[in-house]
Order: sequence, then C-alpha cells, then structure tokens
Amino acid sequence: MNTIVLLSSDTVLLAQLQAAFARQAADMHVVLANAPEAAHAQVAACWFPPSGSLKALPQLKLVHSVAAGIDHLQSDPSLPDLPICRVVDPAHRQGMTEYVRWAVLNFHRGFERVLQQQRERLWQRHPQRSAADFKVGVMGLGSLGAAIAQDLSGAGYSVRGWARSPKELTYVACHHGNEQFNDFLIGLDALVNLLPLTPATQGILCRSTFQRLAKDAVVINCGRGQHVQVDDLQQALNSGQLRGAVLDVFEREPLPVDDRLWNMPGVIITPHMASAASHDCIAQQVALNARCLANGEPLQNLVNIDLGY
Ligand code: NDP
Repeated sequence: MNTIVLLSSDTVLLAQLQAAFARQAADMHVVLANAPEAAHAQVAACWFPPSGSLKALPQLKLVHSVAAGIDHLQSDPSLPDLPICRVVDPAHRQGMTEYVRWAVLNFHRGFERVLQQQRERLWQRHPQRSAADFKVGVMGLGSLGAAIAQDLSGAGYSVRGWARSPKELTYVACHHGNEQFNDFLIGLDALVNLLPLTPATQGILCRSTFQRLAKDAVVINCGRGQHVQVDDLQQALNSGQLRGAVLDVFEREPLPVDDRLWNMPGVIITPHMASAASHDCIAQQVALNARCLANGEPLQNLVNIDLGY
C-alpha cells in the first residue's frame, strides 16, 4: 500500500486532509509525521512543512505541495532534491475569478469611495467610466492568470497580460519577458498580480512598477506577500500615484495585529482567501501522483524546479 505523510504545523488542516484522503483515496495509507509508518512514506503532502521534517523521511521520492504555489516548501531548509508537484484545482480558477472580478469592479465603479462617503454622510456622485476605458493588466498567465484575464476581457475591460513566455489569448493583449514589461505596464488603471514567488518575481510590485501605471491606479495582489515592497507601496499611496490596493497575501500570515498595512489609507486587506483548492481535490491529486509514482507513470502538475514554479 502507498504511504503518504502529511507535513504541516497547521493541525486543523492536517485533520481536514486526513478526512479528505479517507473519502477520496481509501487505498492510500495516510499518516502524520509522528507515526512510525512515516518512515516508509514515498510521498510527502506539504503545507509549510516544519523545519527538518523532510530530512526525516528516508524513503521519500516525491514532495507534493497541497497548494498551487510551492514557495511555502522553503519553511523546511532540509527540502531534498526530489521531484515537486503542486495542486491545480479547476475550482481554484472559479474562486480566483470571483475575487479578482470583485476587486476590479470595486475600483472601476468607485465603490471604495462611496463606502467612505457613507461614513461621512456625504451624497456625491462620480462620473461613470466604461469598462472598455478601464485598462487592467494581469501579471502571470498560467493556470489562474489566463482564466482571470479572459474573464475580465469578457466583462468588457481592456485587458493586457504578461508572462515569461509568449501567449495568445482571445481579446487579451499579451506581453512577455522583461523587455516587454514596460509596454505592459504603461498607463494601466489596475494591476493584478498572479505570479508565483520566485527569485525573478520577488519584490516586483515596487516603485518603478507603480510609476509606470496611470496616476490614480490600483494594485490587486493575489500572488504572494513578498511580491510587494511595502515601503514603495506606502509611498505610492501617499503621493497619489496609487489610489488603492487590495492585498490578499502577506509576507507573514496571519498578518500581525501591529502591522502598518492594517491601517494604511487606501488598502483593503483580505485573509489569504482569494481561492483555495478543496481538500477533496488535494487528496485526489496527491493520491493520483502517488499511484503514478508507484507505477512508474508520468507525474501530474510537476514543477520546473529550475524556474521555481
Ligand atoms: P502557474 O505556474 O500556472 O502560472 C504562473 C504564471 O506566471 C505563468 O504564466 C508564468 O509564465 C508566469 N511567470 C512566472 N515567472 C515569471 C517571470 N519571471 N516573468 C513573467 N512571468 C512569469 O501558476 P498559477 O496560475 O497556478 O498560480 C499563480 C500564483 O498564484 C501561485 O504561485 C500562488 O502564489 C498564487 N495563488 C494565490 C492564491 C490566493 O488565494 N491568494 C491561491 C492560489 C494561487 P509562463 O506561462 O511563461 O511560464
């Protein structure tokens, strides 16, 4: 029987995943790190694996992220040089689409302004702007970003996209590579980040990026907290270069109660809720890869370790 070990310090998540594996993959032997059978595990399903936990698994052949991203695996410096897979849940796209649609619409129609006006009992109408006149850029055109760019273009927005390699998406002006980053950014009203966190993308939401957007632009960060240079964001908001930001992800999560972002004018904070893979989907995909591994078949959603995503 295939043995899968679950590695995380989030005990609630561990219990939820165990229940999901029992529902979706009864043929798998799923254990926690402290079980003696963990020594036989060939697959580790991880969410912020505790430091040293991977090194303690002598039979390990596959590290599986239980999320779309793999950056959280760095929480264990003993991460071995083994194949890494991630979860790609179609329902992820739906959740992310809903979240980004809300965030873009919030700024496009100025709801954040009128909510503030209500607090001040101020009745003031603002000119209505057409979606076609509102330029949205999506950074990252992968499993999530491509779906988001197409959804926004279907809603009538003027949409640009940016990825590492060339892309073709209907009604989305696609750009790629560092050399086209400037053309992608210039004059955008809203910038949506759906990049993975890698050495090449860390800190990409910085002063020089904000300066290229339209004055009064907004930023929506659904990638990772380390994509944002917070000092630069604060300065751009203070100077009026940016009108607002929706932030779903943070360098430290939960966001500490004394973090300056909580009270930064123009910033809307959400608790890393844009989209989550379902526990059942995680169990299905990890179990599928455990079977592929045992049968010598190609692994699904394999990460390119050199690129870091
Ligand atoms: P994918 O790996 O499918 O797509 C990543 C995209 O980013 C690709 O289009 C890739 O380009 C592009 N990219 C990577 N590096 C660069 C670079 N240096 N320059 C330009 N483009 C680059 O990832 P997903 O769409 O599945 O997920 C994206 C990220 O979203 C995750 O890594 C995670 O951080 C975040 N996320 C956040 C969630 C939340 O709830 N807030 C939920 C789920 C994910 P190319 O296509 O050319 O390779």
